[in-house]
Amino acid sequence: MKILIVGGGMGGTILANNLARRLSHEMKTKKVRLTMLSASDRHMYQPGLLYVALGRASTDELYRDQASLLEPGIEFHVDPVEEFDLDKNRVKTKSGRSFDYDLIAIATGSRAVPEEIPGLAEHSINVYTEEAALKFWKTINAFRGGRIVISAGVPHKCPMIPPELTFTLYDFFRDRGLADKVSIHYTYPIGRLHSLEPVGKWMQGEFDQRGITSETLFNMKEVDGEKKVIRSIEGAETPFDLLVAVPGHKGMEVIEKNNLGKGGWIPVNRNRLNIEGRENAFALGDTTNLPISKAGSTAHFEAEALAENLAAIVKIGSPVRDYDGKVFCFIEAGKDKATYAMFNYTTPPDPKPPTKSIHWFKMAYNQLYWASARGLL
Ligand SMILES: Cc1cc2nc3c(=O)[nH]c(=O)nc-3n(C[C@H](O)[C@H](O)[C@H](O)COP(=O)(O)OP(=O)(O)OC[C@H]3O[C@@H](n4cnc5c(N)ncnc54)[C@H](O)[C@@H]3O)c2cc1C
Repeated sequence: MKILIVGGGMGGTILANNLARRLSHEMKTKKVRLTMLSASDRHMYQPGLLYVALGRASTDELYRDQASLLEPGIEFHVDPVEEFDLDKNRVKTKSGRSFDYDLIAIATGSRAVPEEIPGLAEHSINVYTEEAALKFWKTINAFRGGRIVISAGVPHKCPMIPPELTFTLYDFFRDRGLADKVSIHYTYPIGRLHSLEPVGKWMQGEFDQRGITSETLFNMKEVDGEKKVIRSIEGAETPFDLLVAVPGHKGMEVIEKNNLGKGGWIPVNRNRLNIEGRENAFALGDTTNLPISKAGSTAHFEAEALAENLAAIVKIGSPVRDYDGKVFCFIEAGKDKATYAMFNYTTPPDPKPPTKSIHWFKMAYNQLYWASARGLL
């Protein structure tokens, strides 16, 4: 039996390693062949970009060699998929090779698209690529005062980035002695401060303590770089000296081009993660259309459930468990305090007051991630 995993990021890697351990006997005896196709020979720990942007980590700390993270026996090719033929159980890659499969899992991730809002890419900073995070650091390092507007679009990767940027920037400028020269204003597209209602309520209390102002129902429409204002679809306009964007995201172009899902979001069953109308094709991580957080922990918990099910399909012919929507996200609430949000499809999060120990737990997790990617945590 041939199992193909497309994408070697968080979801694809955890899935591949977990599956390789569950199917080690079948792989040794050549009953199962497990192949991963990815677009890069390097694996980036994307949450580390936040610390690069704040000048607290260097970019080389974010990467490991992808092959070194994979269990022995997994065939790995750096050869991105260009064509998906789910009817014929076959993909075609950039190098022109064809790979057929019995089971496929797609985990190609998502990308920020600031260029879709006129003026946004040119006149704002963000943390979503290595280049952007470095520009972010240079910009805040040189900023000497004025009005900072933090503006979020939807959907976006990592639901906690808008509050994290707000609280860490607040502390950053306070530590530099610029507290009275910097004001922070936050905008969010829906009628509260965060997509998760309890997180939004918790944020309001933290904003009030710090004098951070906010505006909701603000969907970015355009940025006028000359006048230094950002306008919303709803007709509001807010001035800025420094614009910090959390741009809206899309799935990868290859997904949309192959008609696998509008905007690059693949429709899947929320419990089994099979692509709608298909029994042998699955998607996980950011690229699904599920209305849950586009987060590494989502990809991680989905990968665990999916690995168990794919192994069960090989061994007994049917899946055995459901993914329950579990997500766990740390929330950096400043330079040295954090809280967390844990939730699933039925139970909302209940963020507690931030503590230093949760912040240090997050710092430790940033290192432990590499064990997690190997499927050891
Ligand atoms: C600044 C920042 C902070 C974040 N903080 C957190 C956090 O604190 N907690 C949290 O849980 N999450 C966080 N995230 C989100 C998290 O990193 C992503 O949700 C997670 O990486 C998604 O995993 P994935 O496997 O779906 O996609 P990715 O990890 O992005 O992997 C996608 C993979 O697909 C490959 N690929 C792309 N196209 C193709 C193709 N055509 N063929 C083959 N392979 C392809 C890529 O090379 C890559 O290996 C953060 C993200 C950012 C950017």
